[in-house]
Amino acid sequence: STISVGDLARRMGIKASEVISALMRLGVLATLNQALDVDTAALIAADFGYEVEQAMTEELELEALQEQESEMGGEALPRPPVVTVMGHVDHGKTSILDAIRKTDVVAGEAGGITQHIGAYHVQSPSGDLTFVDTPGHAAFTEMRSRGAKVTDIVVLVVAADDGVMDQTKEAIAHSKAADVPIVVAVNKIDKDSADPERVKRELSDFGLIPEEWGGTTIFCETSAKKGIGIEDLIESIQLQAEILELRADALRRAKGTVIEAQLHKGRGPVATVLVQEGTLHPGDNFVAGNYSGKVRTLTNERGEQVQAAGPSIPVEVQGLSGVPQAGDEFVVLTDEKMAKSVASARQLKARETELASASKVSLENLFEKIAEQDVKELRVILRADVQGTLQAFGQAAENLSTKAIRVRSLHEGTGTITENDIHLAAASDAIIIGFNVRPAVKVKELAEREGVDVRSYDVIYHALEDIEKAMKGMLEPVY
Ligand code: GDP
Repeated sequence: STISVGDLARRMGIKASEVISALMRLGVLATLNQALDVDTAALIAADFGYEVEQAMTEELELEALQEQESEMGGEALPRPPVVTVMGHVDHGKTSILDAIRKTDVVAGEAGGITQHIGAYHVQSPSGDLTFVDTPGHAAFTEMRSRGAKVTDIVVLVVAADDGVMDQTKEAIAHSKAADVPIVVAVNKIDKDSADPERVKRELSDFGLIPEEWGGTTIFCETSAKKGIGIEDLIESIQLQAEILELRADALRRAKGTVIEAQLHKGRGPVATVLVQEGTLHPGDNFVAGNYSGKVRTLTNERGEQVQAAGPSIPVEVQGLSGVPQAGDEFVVLTDEKMAKSVASARQLKARETELASASKVSLENLFEKIAEQDVKELRVILRADVQGTLQAFGQAAENLSTKAIRVRSLHEGTGTITENDIHLAAASDAIIIGFNVRPAVKVKELAEREGVDVRSYDVIYHALEDIEKAMKGMLEPVY
């Protein structure tokens, strides 16, 4: 069985980019969705101080189980595209969404949308499509950083009278980073000052070249206000979806991604899940991030209870044991016990990760802490047998300060390392460096309990060298 780079990163609670760099150091050029075998995964996990132990093996068993089960599915058939609308403020994102919603043949009968659940499905005469409307780009990138991919197509709205602006550029950058194709809606073409050709020219500078100029980007001219070009936009999204060959097997056990989740006063934890494979039903056992549950009810964006949700359909799920996070994977399992044990293993791992990140600074983790911007200052408590060493070292150590991190001596004293030094270091997240002095056993034990890094040296130069290496992440661990 295998595990994807994104999954592995998520399970260790680190950024996918860190896993990708670690793989690069092993000479493997990997992408977010690349499948790793257990051995490679274990190697990388060890790199980050994890063993592929119970939690991970359960995850891998889970995946194997899913694989087996999925073989019992049916045929992968075309599924509706999942779309996110982006663009600069006031360029017409909301207006375009409203205009598209008005084409919904089902919502029309039921009296429109009554609930915000973070995503909704539209059945328009020009085709079905699903919109994820979690606010802003933050949700888009946050979900991606958690290894989740929900958006198939980005609709980039650019006002024809305003052109490419800051948030337009941001949206392009996010879409490109996520490798999601863009369909451009040149909006507000009803305005006298509209200049769609200018928008095309400006976007071409960002590699979004219209088909008539030999490029591959689909451009639509719309007026959300007057309802012009909306059908054309929906058709263009469908066309882009066809190019992507979006398919899913509705007969598999359901799998999807949590779009948003919250603790509801009367109803307990609720989560909007975008089903990406299979079909979700009431009564299904599942794992969602660190939690498990059994689907009590499925509710659509119109507040109606439904008995099934297939590929590309968002539904609000009740029956969770806790509140998962946006971007968490949602997986249906036949075995309730399995679901519970995967969830509790994940909770354990999450707590460990939390504890680890709350750990005190040491020369060994200094580089990571600098990288995480967890630490901007390396605080040092100095002890030496003679006063001269203290002065010489204190000055030289502070001179190692860089833009990213300042080295600061908190306290200096002659004589041996005391319990007080440990308490001070623990309280102020400092490390202790001693020259020709060694802590008594009792002091050493206290340091271990408090997680304080105590290092002893004979030569100033060696201590400086270690600090410098630690700042660059090049310090060899001591065993
Ligand atoms: P958003 O911030 O991108 O969601 O933009 P909105 O949809 O809220 O629209 C911003 C303003 O532009 C509103 O006053 C809309 O009425 C107006 N607007 C949106 N689309 C059009 C359009 O096609 N033509 C004109 N003339 N105004 C539009």
